[in-house]
Amino acid sequence: MRLVFLGPPGAGKGTQARELAREWGVPHLATGDMLREAAATGSRLGLEARRYMDQGALVPDDVIVGLMRERLARPDAARGFIVDGFPRTIAQAEALAQLLKDHGQQLDVVIYFDVSEGELLRRLTGRRVCRACQTAYHLVFAPPTRPGVCDKCGGELYQREDDGEKPVRIRLDVYARQTSPLLDYYRQRGLLATVAGEGSIDVIRQAIRQTAGG
Ligand code: AMP
Repeated sequence: MRLVFLGPPGAGKGTQARELAREWGVPHLATGDMLREAAATGSRLGLEARRYMDQGALVPDDVIVGLMRERLARPDAARGFIVDGFPRTIAQAEALAQLLKDHGQQLDVVIYFDVSEGELLRRLTGRRVCRACQTAYHLVFAPPTRPGVCDKCGGELYQREDDGEKPVRIRLDVYARQTSPLLDYYRQRGLLATVAGEGSIDVIRQAIRQTAGG
């Protein structure tokens, strides 16, 4: 199964992809996580990417496509994957199709997470993320048992630089201008399926399972 999770920042793509990838035994390929890891190790690519990320802007297509080319070539991706946060532009979608074609593969379905803008703002500004395992919490809607500590691994929770109010507004605007055209792009190719992204995490997860046929 080769899936793309598509939707605005804060739609719940990472939360769902992390669990379902584990359940289905496929890798969860999240470009945002890859970039944050690269930035944390202080690599040149990571530090350069960070300049864009902290402002809420997109990292240039060639950097992201290079990253995904390497990641998709690794053996664990041969059996399938869930991609989250990529593609974010039409150019990235074209590049993904070509990368898969080079491996004799194609996407099975693109799942769009439909969430209202008010809900996105609420989720993003209250979000806290584990530095170690990337599990996401929310200060009000899904708090950890102990403040500041990850329930899953005991790691430290932090607020992403780009979850501040100003970068969040920019990210939502970037999504509307650069990423939302992918809805039509994938609809025209018969690949788009929409899931209602508001409500309980478990109910949404079940809807995704049904849509993915899993
Ligand atoms: P995310 O964790 O998916 O919200 O991504 C965080 C940030 O990483 C984004 O705001 C971008 O700066 C960068 N990023 C992640 N994925 C991509 C992508 N596919 N194309 C461009 N920039 C990306």
